[in-house]
Amino acid sequence: MTTTVVCFLVTLMMTRADPDLTWRSDDVTGQEARVDVKKKQIGLRLCGPADRDYSFNPSAPNGPNNWGRVSWCCDGFLQSPVHVTRQTARCGEVMGSVLYSTVLPVPGIIYNTGLIGKYPKMSFYGRVELTNVPGTNFRDRYVLDSLHVHFGNSRQVGSEHRVNGRFYDGELHLVHYKDTYRSLDDAMSREDGVAVIGLMLELVPDTSGPNWALWNMTMNMGRLLGVGSRYSRDHEVNPKWLFPMRPDFFTYRGSLTGPPCSESVRWIVMEEPVKITREMLNVYWNLPSDEGRLISDYTNVRAVYPTGNRMVQTNFFC
Ligand SMILES: [Zn+2]
Repeated sequence: MTTTVVCFLVTLMMTRADPDLTWRSDDVTGQEARVDVKKKQIGLRLCGPADRDYSFNPSAPNGPNNWGRVSWCCDGFLQSPVHVTRQTARCGEVMGSVLYSTVLPVPGIIYNTGLIGKYPKMSFYGRVELTNVPGTNFRDRYVLDSLHVHFGNSRQVGSEHRVNGRFYDGELHLVHYKDTYRSLDDAMSREDGVAVIGLMLELVPDTSGPNWALWNMTMNMGRLLGVGSRYSRDHEVNPKWLFPMRPDFFTYRGSLTGPPCSESVRWIVMEEPVKITREMLNVYWNLPSDEGRLISDYTNVRAVYPTGNRMVQTNFFC
């Protein structure tokens, strides 16, 4: 009995202390995250806001491979983004779609870089709530906090999630927190605290017409060619206008895709992409970062993580 306990403790200590761990890399796309398969899953990792800054520069000491040093949660086993596919999802297990409480545009402020990240961002001060979030009670309300955009520096490397085998040109995240918590910062360390909707952005010819609400917001973001609070402006948008035609989505439990990487997120990833133009993509690619470069130099896209034994469900039949 004692020997078993000692062995267990030694194993645990060795696992934590051993810096030479085996990494498994799925090199299908070069965008798969390296995951330490020796470590045992300990459970859900919940973290509050990180107090250290982080970078997307792969060779920086606080770069993506070292985010675990910025926040312990980033080395967790329920991380996002992931690859979602019709082949591996449990189709038709979720009823209906998510619902926003407003028919009007919601006011907010757009920034080039937000206070917590390296993304063009809009923070909402007008209140709008999301209901019918999968995995929650229908009456649970999630307040829209902000939206931000992820993008690469060339075609088809801009989305964080991989959907049915492909990456898109960008990904827009609508970030919500449960209304029983005080704020997003408060909610991110709670198991049921956060719901994020991921919209894939796909480049189409200028003549075929982008999503005009997103076009308008993006052009305004393009006028913020600086860094800091001076480079912000008022804007308003109804989040419903940003969605694709089809309400079909994948849903699973995951994390914030940047530090603190808290595993408090109910993800809703829309299957149909939203249309953007080359003009919009050029705006994103030319936005400055808070490191004195362009955001697109290192991009702001995190690599894909294994789904593991997590269940991915859909609200449509495959
Ligand atoms: Zn995001």
